[in-house]
Amino acid sequence: MAIDQAALGAWLADFADQIHQGADQLTDLDREIGDGDHGSNMDRGMKAVAALDPNDFASGADYLKKVGMTLVSTVGGASGPIYGTFFLRLGAAWSSVNDAPTLGLALRAGLDGIQQRGKATTGDKTLVDALSPAVEAYDKQADQGISTALAAAAGAAEAGRDATIPMVAHKGRASYLGERSAGHQDPGATSMTMLLEAAAKHLS
Ligand code: ADP
Ligand code: MG
Repeated sequence: MAIDQAALGAWLADFADQIHQGADQLTDLDREIGDGDHGSNMDRGMKAVAALDPNDFASGADYLKKVGMTLVSTVGGASGPIYGTFFLRLGAAWSSVNDAPTLGLALRAGLDGIQQRGKATTGDKTLVDALSPAVEAYDKQADQGISTALAAAAGAAEAGRDATIPMVAHKGRASYLGERSAGHQDPGATSMTMLLEAAAKHLS
């Protein structure tokens, strides 16, 4: 196994920290095009995740599945089931992860789960606009190893997040605003970028 449970725990502890520090920013972004709860939703969920001890689980797969279930049951809103599905799918694929290309397959499984669940595609102004280019960038660099591929993924997520600003939302609450959703950065794409930045720091 290339990535042990302690590294998974460090990844998600850092993400929980980023979410907590960024909660006001995420909430402000969601106030502009949603209902102003994305920061508090994610902070509640990631506090519950950070309270889990990865060493209490028989495997990384079991830990990731528990993370998914915890997010589904604590985050609420649109983002709870969507982030939850990501980690449930990552957990389901985890036993096959032993190098950079197989980690890419697991990340892709997470993305596919999100898209099956939420029906969003790129350009809809959701967190898919950060995660989808990240998975693509990862795959292009997968032969260079996990660290290089994840750094590329984080950079692509940042660009994808920024690219949501001019988009008109077609999914989620922001879509109720129609054209008025343009000119605002998507909150979910912002939190998803934090997840990939933390992954690049802790998984290798
Ligand atoms: P809610 O919209 O229910 O208040 P949150 O505010 O926690 O939930 O999350 C909003 C974020 O969820 C959006 O910024 C967007 O990135 C993401 N989102 C909403 N709908 C979808 C969808 N169908 N597929 C993927 N992501 C979505
Ligand atoms: Mg909201």
